[in-house]
Amino acid sequence: MTVHRIRLLGDPILRTRCQPISNSRSPAVRVVADDLRDTLRDWQERYGTGRGIAAPQIGAPIRLILVIENAKRVWMVNPEIVDVGDEDFLVWDDCFSFPDLMVRVQRAYHVTVKYQDLAGRSHSIDAAGPFAELLQHEIDHLDGVLAVDRASGLDPFCLREEWQRHWGREGRYGKPAPREEPRAAHVL
Ligand SMILES: [Zn+2]
Repeated sequence: MTVHRIRLLGDPILRTRCQPISNSRSPAVRVVADDLRDTLRDWQERYGTGRGIAAPQIGAPIRLILVIENAKRVWMVNPEIVDVGDEDFLVWDDCFSFPDLMVRVQRAYHVTVKYQDLAGRSHSIDAAGPFAELLQHEIDHLDGVLAVDRASGLDPFCLREEWQRHWGREGRYGKPAPREEPRAAHVL
Protein backbone atom coordinates (compact mmCIF):
# COMPACT_ATOMS: atom_id res chain seq x y z
CA MET A 1 0.00 0.00 0.00
CA THR A 2 1.53 3.26 -1.11
CA VAL A 3 -0.30 6.51 -0.74
CA HIS A 4 1.53 9.21 -2.65
CA ARG A 5 1.58 12.90 -2.09
CA ILE A 6 -0.55 14.53 -4.79
CA ARG A 7 1.51 16.78 -7.02
CA LEU A 8 0.20 20.34 -6.91
CA LEU A 9 -0.22 23.11 -9.46
CA GLY A 10 3.23 24.48 -10.23
CA ASP A 11 4.96 21.08 -10.15
CA PRO A 12 6.51 20.62 -13.61
CA ILE A 13 5.50 16.96 -13.78
CA LEU A 14 1.87 18.08 -14.18
CA ARG A 15 2.95 19.77 -17.43
CA THR A 16 4.67 16.72 -18.87
CA ARG A 17 3.36 14.99 -21.96
CA CYS A 18 3.16 11.47 -20.55
CA GLN A 19 4.70 8.44 -22.24
CA PRO A 20 2.52 5.82 -23.95
CA ILE A 21 2.54 2.44 -22.21
CA SER A 22 3.83 -0.33 -24.45
CA ASN A 23 3.04 -3.26 -22.13
CA SER A 24 -0.09 -2.89 -19.99
CA ARG A 25 0.82 -6.00 -18.01
CA SER A 26 4.30 -4.97 -16.98
CA PRO A 27 5.07 -5.01 -13.25
CA ALA A 28 6.02 -1.33 -13.39
CA VAL A 29 2.56 -0.42 -14.69
CA ARG A 30 0.98 -2.62 -12.03
CA VAL A 31 2.80 -0.72 -9.30
CA VAL A 32 1.54 2.63 -10.59
CA ALA A 33 -2.00 1.22 -10.98
CA ASP A 34 -1.99 -0.01 -7.38
CA ASP A 35 -0.60 3.27 -6.11
CA LEU A 36 -3.31 5.21 -7.97
CA ARG A 37 -5.90 3.01 -6.27
CA ASP A 38 -4.39 3.51 -2.83
CA THR A 39 -3.93 7.24 -3.25
CA LEU A 40 -7.47 7.76 -4.57
CA ARG A 41 -8.91 5.65 -1.77
CA ASP A 42 -6.97 7.64 0.81
CA TRP A 43 -8.30 10.90 -0.66
CA GLN A 44 -11.86 9.57 -0.62
CA GLU A 45 -11.54 8.50 3.00
CA ARG A 46 -10.15 11.84 4.06
CA TYR A 47 -12.36 14.20 2.05
CA GLY A 48 -15.35 12.17 0.88
CA THR A 49 -14.74 13.15 -2.75
CA GLY A 50 -12.69 11.93 -5.69
CA ARG A 51 -13.80 10.26 -8.90
CA GLY A 52 -10.54 9.93 -10.76
CA ILE A 53 -6.79 10.36 -10.75
CA ALA A 54 -4.07 10.44 -13.38
CA ALA A 55 -0.59 8.91 -13.08
CA PRO A 56 1.32 12.21 -13.33
CA GLN A 57 -0.51 13.41 -10.22
CA ILE A 58 1.45 10.84 -8.22
CA GLY A 59 4.67 11.56 -10.06
CA ALA A 60 4.52 8.87 -12.77
CA PRO A 61 4.56 10.42 -16.26
CA ILE A 62 2.87 7.51 -18.06
CA ARG A 63 -0.49 7.33 -19.86
CA LEU A 64 -2.58 5.68 -17.15
CA ILE A 65 -5.68 6.94 -15.36
CA LEU A 66 -8.04 5.48 -12.78
CA VAL A 67 -11.69 6.54 -12.79
CA ILE A 68 -14.71 5.45 -10.79
CA GLU A 69 -17.64 4.41 -12.96
CA ASN A 70 -20.82 3.27 -11.19
CA ALA A 71 -18.86 2.65 -7.99
CA LYS A 72 -16.34 0.45 -9.86
CA ARG A 73 -12.69 1.21 -10.47
CA VAL A 74 -11.66 1.36 -14.12
CA TRP A 75 -7.99 1.68 -15.03
CA MET A 76 -7.43 3.01 -18.51
CA VAL A 77 -4.11 2.50 -20.25
CA ASN A 78 -3.35 4.85 -23.17
CA PRO A 79 -6.88 6.36 -23.13
CA GLU A 80 -7.72 8.39 -26.18
CA ILE A 81 -10.74 10.50 -27.09
CA VAL A 82 -11.69 9.30 -30.56
CA ASP A 83 -15.00 11.11 -31.01
CA VAL A 84 -16.97 13.94 -29.44
CA GLY A 85 -20.67 14.72 -29.75
CA ASP A 86 -21.96 18.05 -31.02
CA GLU A 87 -23.04 19.40 -27.64
CA ASP A 88 -20.99 21.10 -24.93
CA PHE A 89 -21.80 21.87 -21.34
CA LEU A 90 -20.35 24.16 -18.73
CA VAL A 91 -18.83 22.53 -15.68
CA TRP A 92 -17.39 23.89 -12.47
CA ASP A 93 -14.34 21.68 -12.41
CA ASP A 94 -11.95 20.92 -9.60
CA CYS A 95 -8.77 18.91 -9.24
CA PHE A 96 -6.71 17.22 -6.53
CA SER A 97 -3.79 19.27 -7.78
CA PHE A 98 -5.49 22.58 -6.81
CA PRO A 99 -8.01 21.44 -4.23
CA ASP A 100 -9.30 24.85 -3.15
CA LEU A 101 -9.99 26.21 -6.63
CA MET A 102 -13.05 25.78 -8.83
CA VAL A 103 -12.71 26.54 -12.54
CA ARG A 104 -15.54 26.94 -15.01
CA VAL A 105 -14.72 24.98 -18.15
CA GLN A 106 -16.54 23.98 -21.30
CA ARG A 107 -16.52 20.27 -22.08
CA ALA A 108 -18.03 18.01 -24.68
CA TYR A 109 -21.19 16.37 -23.36
CA HIS A 110 -20.55 13.07 -25.16
CA VAL A 111 -17.20 11.44 -25.82
CA THR A 112 -16.04 8.10 -27.13
CA VAL A 113 -12.86 6.85 -25.50
CA LYS A 114 -10.65 3.98 -26.52
CA TYR A 115 -8.26 2.45 -24.03
CA GLN A 116 -6.66 -0.79 -22.92
CA ASP A 117 -7.22 -2.44 -19.57
CA LEU A 118 -4.43 -3.77 -17.35
CA ALA A 119 -4.65 -7.14 -19.09
CA GLY A 120 -3.97 -5.50 -22.45
CA ARG A 121 -7.49 -5.88 -23.84
CA SER A 122 -8.87 -3.02 -25.95
CA HIS A 123 -12.11 -1.27 -25.09
CA SER A 124 -14.22 1.55 -26.47
CA ILE A 125 -16.81 3.32 -24.35
CA ASP A 126 -19.36 6.05 -24.94
CA ALA A 127 -19.69 8.43 -22.02
CA ALA A 128 -22.07 11.32 -21.37
CA GLY A 129 -22.44 14.13 -18.86
CA PRO A 130 -20.36 14.05 -15.67
CA PHE A 131 -18.55 10.85 -16.62
CA ALA A 132 -17.63 12.29 -20.03
CA GLU A 133 -16.34 15.40 -18.30
CA LEU A 134 -14.30 13.29 -15.88
CA LEU A 135 -12.67 11.39 -18.73
CA GLN A 136 -11.78 14.63 -20.54
CA HIS A 137 -10.28 16.01 -17.32
CA GLU A 138 -8.14 12.94 -16.62
CA ILE A 139 -7.00 12.46 -20.21
CA ASP A 140 -6.02 16.14 -20.30
CA HIS A 141 -3.64 15.38 -17.40
CA LEU A 142 -1.75 12.94 -19.63
CA ASP A 143 -1.00 15.79 -22.02
CA GLY A 144 0.03 18.19 -19.29
CA VAL A 145 -3.22 20.14 -19.63
CA LEU A 146 -5.06 21.31 -16.52
CA ALA A 147 -8.56 22.67 -15.98
CA VAL A 148 -7.07 26.13 -15.40
CA ASP A 149 -5.99 26.08 -19.08
CA ARG A 150 -9.58 25.51 -20.16
CA ALA A 151 -11.14 28.33 -18.14
CA SER A 152 -14.24 29.54 -19.96
CA GLY A 153 -16.23 32.77 -19.85
CA LEU A 154 -15.90 35.80 -17.61
CA ASP A 155 -14.76 35.27 -14.03
CA PRO A 156 -14.08 31.54 -14.43
CA PHE A 157 -12.12 31.06 -11.18
CA CYS A 158 -13.66 30.73 -7.77
CA LEU A 159 -12.25 29.61 -4.44
CA ARG A 160 -14.14 26.57 -3.23
CA GLU A 161 -15.50 28.29 -0.15
CA GLU A 162 -16.87 31.19 -2.23
CA TRP A 163 -18.16 28.79 -4.85
CA GLN A 164 -20.20 26.97 -2.23
CA ARG A 165 -21.55 30.28 -1.00
CA HIS A 166 -22.49 31.73 -4.39
CA TRP A 167 -22.79 28.91 -6.88
CA GLY A 168 -23.18 25.70 -4.95
CA ARG A 169 -26.95 25.65 -5.04
CA GLU A 170 -26.97 25.60 -8.83
CA GLY A 171 -24.63 22.64 -8.87
CA ARG A 172 -21.56 21.93 -10.91
CA TYR A 173 -23.07 21.01 -14.26
CA GLY A 174 -24.84 23.15 -16.83
CA LYS A 175 -27.22 21.85 -19.46
CA PRO A 176 -25.91 20.46 -22.73
CA ALA A 177 -26.23 22.85 -25.65
CA PRO A 178 -25.17 22.69 -29.29
CA ARG A 179 -21.56 23.71 -29.73
CA GLU A 180 -21.44 27.14 -31.31
CA GLU A 181 -18.11 26.73 -33.01
CA PRO A 182 -15.81 23.80 -33.53
CA ARG A 183 -13.51 23.38 -30.57
CA ALA A 184 -10.68 21.28 -31.81
CA ALA A 185 -9.08 21.59 -28.37
CA HIS A 186 -11.27 18.75 -27.14
CA VAL A 187 -9.22 16.27 -29.08
CA LEU A 188 -5.52 16.81 -28.72
ZN1 LIG B 1 -7.15 16.78 -12.04
